Amino acid sequence: MSMLDDFTHEPRIAYFSMEIALQNDIPTYSGGLGVLAGDTMRSATDLELPVVAVTLVSRAGYFRQKIDAGGRQLEEPMHWQPADHAEPLNAKVAVIMENREVWISAWLYILRGHMNGRQPIILLDTDVAENSAEDRRITDRLYGGDNSYRLKQEIVLGIGGVRLLRALGFEIRQYHMNEGHSALLGLELLHRFKYPSDDLRPGESPYNIPQVRELCCFTTHTPVEAGHDHFDYTLVQRVLGEVVDIATLKRLAGDESLNMTRLALNLSEHVNGVAKRHAEVSRKMFPGYRVKAITNGVHPYTWTSPGFIKLYDHHLPGWCHEPELLVRANCCIPDEDILEAHRQAKTALMDKIKALTGAAFDSTLPTLGFARRMTAYKRPDLLFSDIGRLKSIARSQPFQIVLAGKAHPHDVTGKQLIELLHRHMRELGDIINMTFLPGYDMDIARLMVAGVDVWLNTPLRPMEASGTSGMKAAFNGVPNLSVLDGWWIEGCIEGITGWAVGDSMESANGNDALALYDKLEQVVLPLYQDPAGWVKVMKGAICKNASFFNSHRMMRRYTTEAYIR
Ligand SMILES: *Cc1c(COP(=O)(O)O)cnc(C)c1O
Repeated sequence: MSMLDDFTHEPRIAYFSMEIALQNDIPTYSGGLGVLAGDTMRSATDLELPVVAVTLVSRAGYFRQKIDAGGRQLEEPMHWQPADHAEPLNAKVAVIMENREVWISAWLYILRGHMNGRQPIILLDTDVAENSAEDRRITDRLYGGDNSYRLKQEIVLGIGGVRLLRALGFEIRQYHMNEGHSALLGLELLHRFKYPSDDLRPGESPYNIPQVRELCCFTTHTPVEAGHDHFDYTLVQRVLGEVVDIATLKRLAGDESLNMTRLALNLSEHVNGVAKRHAEVSRKMFPGYRVKAITNGVHPYTWTSPGFIKLYDHHLPGWCHEPELLVRANCCIPDEDILEAHRQAKTALMDKIKALTGAAFDSTLPTLGFARRMTAYKRPDLLFSDIGRLKSIARSQPFQIVLAGKAHPHDVTGKQLIELLHRHMRELGDIINMTFLPGYDMDIARLMVAGVDVWLNTPLRPMEASGTSGMKAAFNGVPNLSVLDGWWIEGCIEGITGWAVGDSMESANGNDALALYDKLEQVVLPLYQDPAGWVKVMKGAICKNASFFNSHRMMRRYTTEAYIR
């Protein structure tokens, strides 16, 4: 009996994602999108939903980040051995690329939940003997290489993934595209679902588009046009050939270039953005499409520190399955226990900082945390817009700062921002203790979101589709201080769950630095000196944010609105 039999006996939802954060030492993820995909699967596991995930094996990972003495990011490949964590599957399918066959095999990783659930994750791999040396590298580097490399990866993911699921004996009731990277799967389905040629009038399209749309749903994550994958049709015709005829392809994916988002939009019955504001922005960007909002969430157990797990287990048994129970946290958990659980998380973070950088942090000082992809729209430098002001605040109300984040190797501005942050660190001298933790990953994220006192986010509106790290902070009673964008528009209740920087209007972007300094100086830091007032906000974050912004709620919505329609 094959180990797949446990999973192929019932129809499943196929969840396609270019990246999935399965566990910290498997580098098949780069950041937020992959962590969300991982949390999606972890919730599917806890809720025992019949899902199968499909992604690339990414043998060389995204990259390992080192920071040199000048504050520059260095990138090293992060090789891993699939055989250490997954089982090879004995199925192989071919796709045509550049007029040759490229063979795809796969590994089975079994995601094991902490409540006994299990989910199959299929890792697609072109490193097989039949392929040329070049083709064997297609599934190596996550988001690596040029546009042609990317298109090949997306052919493997979308077309190869659908073929492989069938070869393995999966019956798929719904295909979920997590971002547009996997949208070519729709072409494979069109190829599969054609009207009988006898029924067609001359010139009529043979593809049963309504049937394919019934089978597909799509989650978009990017609120700017430039963020969506585009491919030139010359490249497409050279690499992909004709899975469907070019006229049909252009009708579905755009006349000028193959726009993966447009393709996914046209082939999906259900489409959603990842927060209410993001869905609005997406509707404006793509008029004529119905785009719902399913606001993201994070996986409760994964993102809660050991101290808080113990507290919730004791006071709110069942919270791991039903995080809504956390609405009662304010009345049933004693303040002192909340503060003690946080002290433990803070100590764990300070120990990690010491181990990684040698810097000594003071666990009695309020600590600001900021960690995310280092890229222009996230504005990691906003806090440092006026170093003089920042220092003067710290002279009267001392605090410290912990930062982390990777920049995409091609993101020149993002890499400059990392250097700039290191310069600011030196400028702050001994007035503000500040550190940048290299190699941001799930483990560092887990320590940071729980161990700081305030979680900061300062994106340029409306670029933060959702943001999820602030939700992780909420599970640990850490309030957010953030620009009103993405999820925080829904999550912020001023002074109750955390604090807003400016208002939610795009025109507020230019005044954010001032608003941030004022809020920090006049509201946040003074409140920290009043533990009774502070713990109220910690509890507000748990009750009103963690109880809602979790991936169980998110998956229950996907199930009732996208998967079962
Ligand atoms: C949660 C997480 C992210 C996403 O955080 P955002 O707030 O959405 O930017 C990125 N990287 C890692 C390692 C994470 O854990």
